[in-house]
Amino acid sequence: MLMGTKQLGARIVYRRLVRELKAACLDLVLPPHCPGCGAGRGELDAGYRLCRPCRVHLEGIPPGGCRRCGEPLAAPGRCSYDHRPLQGIAFARAPFRYRGTGGALVRRFKLAGDFGALSLLAKAMAEVVGSSLMPEWRHARIVAVPLHRLRRRARGFDQAELLAQAVATRLSLCCVASCLRRSRATRPQGDPRVLSRALNVDGAFEVERPQVVCGQRIVLIDDVTTSGATARACARVLLAAGAHEVALLTSCRARTLSATL
Ligand SMILES: [Zn+2]
Ligand SMILES: [Zn+2]
Repeated sequence: MLMGTKQLGARIVYRRLVRELKAACLDLVLPPHCPGCGAGRGELDAGYRLCRPCRVHLEGIPPGGCRRCGEPLAAPGRCSYDHRPLQGIAFARAPFRYRGTGGALVRRFKLAGDFGALSLLAKAMAEVVGSSLMPEWRHARIVAVPLHRLRRRARGFDQAELLAQAVATRLSLCCVASCLRRSRATRPQGDPRVLSRALNVDGAFEVERPQVVCGQRIVLIDDVTTSGATARACARVLLAAGAHEVALLTSCRARTLSATL
């Protein structure tokens, strides 16, 4: 049954209240720590609950930028960045740069399993699209860029899948995190032995359940965007499986797209 706007709004408010109540209870049991550096008991900022030095070194990508790439505009309505890395991607957003605290948050979540960092990143990701999500994307499906099963087993969790689930909950969107599969192990894109990031991931992804993406708008979730090659490879197979459009949402952007000016 279709839900009315008022009911949807009430559900979002209810979920937010439950989340805040859970956080307050958890604070009583486990005193909060800063998810950027792990320091405990210091004065944490009310928004992201970061300590002051981490807050200072958190570099955000300001809202109101280019509708396609999200980068700040050179002049009203004019983007100076090269959109070719976004081939097959309707729009891309990330709340933070992968520097300073942004990078620290991703590493603490991914490598140390800090779920406070996960929660902060998911909140920022939901906010960066939630405020500007076009009406046609309000029923989009959330899909995660998958790890290969061997890496997932070694890490114990799939960071993009957890981010996807947390973002979907915050945006009240349907998460079909496991519909993509990494069919062959690839080197990490940052590995110095990777000479071509595009070739490294070419043909590495398969859509396992085309019926859940066919005709749908898909918001693809990953932890970090670097060259965009992984996202393009995923978008290609999703579009080939019948997805209507694919957008990309990551927690951090490792480098800006090349400026064409
Ligand atoms: Zn800190
Ligand atoms: Zn742009």
